Amino acid sequence: MKIRKRKYHFLLSALLILVAVSGCQKEPPITKAEYIQHIVDYVSSDSLESYVSWLEGMGTRFALADNHREVAERIRNRFIAFGYLSARLDSFYLTRTFRGIDYSTWQYNIIASLPGREDDSICIVGAHYDNIVSGGDPFTLSPGANDNASGVAAVLEIARIMKERRFRPKHTLRFTAFAAEELGLHGSLHQAGQDASAGSSIKMMINYDMIAYLEEPSTTPWLVNIIHYDNSEGLKNEAAELCAVNSTLVSYSDNTNYNRSDSYAYYMHGFRALFFHQSDIESTYHTVGDVTSVCNFQYCREVVRASFALVLDKNY
Ligand SMILES: [Zn+2]
Repeated sequence: MKIRKRKYHFLLSALLILVAVSGCQKEPPITKAEYIQHIVDYVSSDSLESYVSWLEGMGTRFALADNHREVAERIRNRFIAFGYLSARLDSFYLTRTFRGIDYSTWQYNIIASLPGREDDSICIVGAHYDNIVSGGDPFTLSPGANDNASGVAAVLEIARIMKERRFRPKHTLRFTAFAAEELGLHGSLHQAGQDASAGSSIKMMINYDMIAYLEEPSTTPWLVNIIHYDNSEGLKNEAAELCAVNSTLVSYSDNTNYNRSDSYAYYMHGFRALFFHQSDIESTYHTVGDVTSVCNFQYCREVVRASFALVLDKNY
């Protein structure tokens, strides 16, 4: 009786294994390239537009305005709502003269992390959230939809999708909204400096600044500028290949060691950085006319897809 029962169990197990194996054969395992294409399809132009319009609706995001801590807290809360429960403010002190008046304020980068499954090295996905207007009064009105709510929208959208898809990155992903870029890259210089002195292993830094303006949407192909630095040409070539497969954009790189956005702070500290940037420059740049309606969210979506593919590729 005992022997028969064992035999029966053995046959049953063999049958189950056979069913499981043949079940797997019906659906071949998804390749890395297919997986990346599948995930970037979740990038939504409606989501991107909703973040930009929400950020513009804050009135001003000027670093020296009275509401600057509140702005940072609202962005942090957005990460928390996505499920990044430990999203936090990273503060630093800034002393600055603006239009002849001295200011001393605390400034706040916003950081949300997705822990890596393999090691403690870090990929940074970042954009500055502050804004400035050159003509008017930035303390009261500074909408900054394209510069740079569009970049923050990219960071938020990638963070949202990764959480929803329960993505477990190879390396730690650090989503960062940088403070006080418009006054001299202060937020990124603070963070990159901290990483350099802590000896952090930064695999790469992806920066977004102005990624939603397209002068002539009917003229194709749409272009994206993937600006690289002396130490990141290889990374730019990888990004260009992934851009071609995962977006409708044609990429180019017209500059190296570009020093007017947050990626430069990482390059300064020896880290590999890329800067995703639109090809055209709008006449509303740094004016109160930089509003959501100036942005093209279909174009913005393509820039996010192209760059998201690189983040996925490095963290598969
Ligand atoms: Zn900017």
